Amino acid sequence: DVSIALFTANLRLRDNPVLRGALDAARRVVPLFVVDSGIVERGFAVPNRAAFLADALAELDEALRERGGRLVVRHGDVVTETARVAAETGAGEVHLAAGVSEYADRRERRLRAALEADGRALVVHDAVLTVVPSGVLTPTGKDHFAVFTPYFRRWERQRVRRPLPAPRSVPVPERVRSEPLPDAAAIAGGERSPGLARGGEATGRKRLTAWMRQGLGDYHALADDLAADATSRLSPHLHFGCLSPTDVLHAARRRGGPGADDFVRQLAWRDFHHQVLAARPAAGRHDYRGHGDRWRNDPAAFDAWREGRTGFPVVDAAMRQLRHEGWMHGRARLLVASFLSKTLYLDWRLGARHFLDLLVDGDLANNQLNWQWAAGTGTDTRPNRVLNPLTQARRFDPNGDYVRRWVPELAEIPGRKAHQPWRLPEPERPADYPEPIVDLATGARRFQRARG
Ligand code: FAD
Repeated sequence: DVSIALFTANLRLRDNPVLRGALDAARRVVPLFVVDSGIVERGFAVPNRAAFLADALAELDEALRERGGRLVVRHGDVVTETARVAAETGAGEVHLAAGVSEYADRRERRLRAALEADGRALVVHDAVLTVVPSGVLTPTGKDHFAVFTPYFRRWERQRVRRPLPAPRSVPVPERVRSEPLPDAAAIAGGERSPGLARGGEATGRKRLTAWMRQGLGDYHALADDLAADATSRLSPHLHFGCLSPTDVLHAARRRGGPGADDFVRQLAWRDFHHQVLAARPAAGRHDYRGHGDRWRNDPAAFDAWREGRTGFPVVDAAMRQLRHEGWMHGRARLLVASFLSKTLYLDWRLGARHFLDLLVDGDLANNQLNWQWAAGTGTDTRPNRVLNPLTQARRFDPNGDYVRRWVPELAEIPGRKAHQPWRLPEPERPADYPEPIVDLATGARRFQRARG
């Protein structure tokens, strides 16, 4: 009388339909996490996400222990290991969250086949999105939405189930072998960003509570202000499922107001990109709109972008924030992505890969499809618009505070002058800061010509 709750992108007890399903199915439940060699082999396990994940697993184990259980950990291929634990414990069912990536899809199919061959069942739950891909379809009822606004109109009207409370107790069978909880190094070797956020459900809930009280109300006014740093920073918690998006959505709607409205719209973007990836798995790798591969090859420019030495302070500030925190402000993500793919005209996939190497919230659906959006290869309705980094800097960092925070070479340059150090008279120009690596007008013309 045992079932398995396999934890993937749902590392929490509250509002976890997978855990609830497993608890309803049997008297005893194995809360299982497999450090999946498949994810490591695909290059997706990187130090920042490994550190966040290790924190999240530790918090999950602690919460389970408070309820009489514990987390069971295995290393290896997720399907082989899960099937093995099922055989060892005699579990009749394995409960799993539905994913949208090709990888998640294949994992689900392989797991179902392995379990069914052994007379067991796989039960799949919706636990990662607020509205699942099939929940919002175009008027013909057959297709996904490629454009956000009409998607959002329908998304808003969807009924979203009420969040489930955390279970009071989680009875785990007595003799189940578990490996020790992994630390970050056991998941992915290498150095993490020094300013990385901590992961976990309790940590995420604290942030959510503080955000609902203090941040949400001003979100509409401050979300784009780079220096204010006034967005929720919930993205890694949502990525790993330390928080349930359904829970976050209900909390924001309860609070209400213009800040909550804008915030809810951002949560819809998350569902939107996931349904595009579900419908077009190749969009993670190839241009959504076929623009052909005419990107320039310029390794020196790519390195300058990656290392935050392009000579455009707002771009460099953002790239350095990414390296330092494993996170970047959303407005900054958009402008550095446009800079790489349009102004420098380098392949968006190079930039997307660099983001995935560092972002603690690095996520196939959100990352690849936002990159496609910014590069004009995605479903954007204005694919040829080039963001000018100076205009962006003046609008979203009007006093230059964001730039001075992240680019110490410019720390002494007052106000908005920090955005154009090359215009300062020679003696005031910081010697250790590079000249711009590209002329913006030339870059914009090159892009427009290439796109015809
Ligand atoms: P808030 O502004 O507080 O928004 C709340 C939540 O809404 C976020 O946590 C996120 O879950 C969701 N959200 C907000 N904006 C978007 C968006 N444009 N698309 C999808 N969901 C959104 N987000 C990721 O989670 N992982 C990524 O790998 C990722 N890569 C990106 C790459 C590029 C080039 C761009 C332009 C955006 C990317 N985003 C990604 C989306 C967005 O920038 C981040 O989700 C957001 O900045 C995270 O900060 P926050 O939690 O404070 O967001």
